[in-house]
Amino acid sequence: MKIAVLPGDGIGPEIVAEAVKVLNALGLNFEMETAPVGGAAYEASGHPLPPATLKLAMESDAVLFGAVGDWKYDTLDRPLRPEQAILGLRKNMGLFANFRPAICYKELVDASSLKPELISGLDILIIRELTGDIYFGQPRGRRTADDGHFPGSEEAFDTMRYSKPEIERIAHVAFQAAQKRSKRVTSVDKANVLETFQFWKDVVSEVSAQYPDVALDHMYVDNAAMQLVKEPKRFDVVVTGNMFGDILSDEASMLTGSIGMLPSASLNSKGQGLYEPSHGSAPDIAGKGIANPLATILSAAMMLRFSLNQEAAAQKIEAAVQKVLADGLRTADIYSVGTTKVSTREMGDAVVAALAAV
Ligand code: NAD
Repeated sequence: MKIAVLPGDGIGPEIVAEAVKVLNALGLNFEMETAPVGGAAYEASGHPLPPATLKLAMESDAVLFGAVGDWKYDTLDRPLRPEQAILGLRKNMGLFANFRPAICYKELVDASSLKPELISGLDILIIRELTGDIYFGQPRGRRTADDGHFPGSEEAFDTMRYSKPEIERIAHVAFQAAQKRSKRVTSVDKANVLETFQFWKDVVSEVSAQYPDVALDHMYVDNAAMQLVKEPKRFDVVVTGNMFGDILSDEASMLTGSIGMLPSASLNSKGQGLYEPSHGSAPDIAGKGIANPLATILSAAMMLRFSLNQEAAAQKIEAAVQKVLADGLRTADIYSVGTTKVSTREMGDAVVAALAAV
């Protein structure tokens, strides 16, 4: 079981160190190799995704990824910015399906900005298509170094597109995930305005005929954004495109209290996956030892489940996380009066200790 460990920037190294600690405590036989990515790689070698890092990722069974990015790179040409590393990994590894569960732990009901009755028991799975849509269209702008046609332009644009096979494969993933849950899928689109999403809606409907046991409904993205805060428990599996999924999954993650709690998995058709917290590199709190490592630790659990075929170990990590929360341990982002505030490292240590007790 070979794992590529790519810590990245900001809080990335701090939170990945805790997840590695938890993986090592399981006593399984992992081969882990670390490589630079994002701004750290740009500083070291002039590129956010050096060939050696990409090669390591492609040759591994799974990638454990921290986060990339910092405001100080915002003036670089786009292909050199840290965020291009994650896009490059997604594209090269063919990671087309992004799973973002938004689960509200009962111990954290009060950390949400919504009323407890709206979110208690919440368990949504957002499935975001990850390698198409406007993020992989044709960009044109002042900083698009790979396209020299528009220097000094007074306009910029990006093109939105999806092919039928791209929509079909993510729809299958969503329907199959729903079959293991409450057998409901909401497909989110903007078919009333965008041709790309009329096509999306038509293709998802076509695929749904193969899953008569799963109920499908369609919702416009603006309404979905509203319903997520009005009545989030109406959703179970939500499937949507790359850009809408990016925005809605962040919104869904905040429903549960903190973005620091939510893991994600990005899978290709071979079962290889990249596992990362749903949040970014949080430069505002980097180096302070206060970041919440639980999203990364829970991402490691998803890695064990989806790419390494170690379901029992995945459940063990999830139970250990539940235990530390039940014991009242909280990093600053989820702290409330009456609980015990701990650092990033103390939280990782507590999860390791809890592994022995679950
Ligand atoms: P962010 O997710 O990094 O941070 C948003 C807010 O949440 C900040 O206040 C931060 O302190 C807090 N936060 C995030 N993770 C936390 C954690 N584990 N514990 C406690 N608090 C946490 O988003 P941003 O500020 O918009 O972006 C910062 C940088 O991250 C940018 O350069 C952006 O491009 C990059 N980014 C990277 C990824 C990725 O690597 N996949 C994803 C999103 C953003």
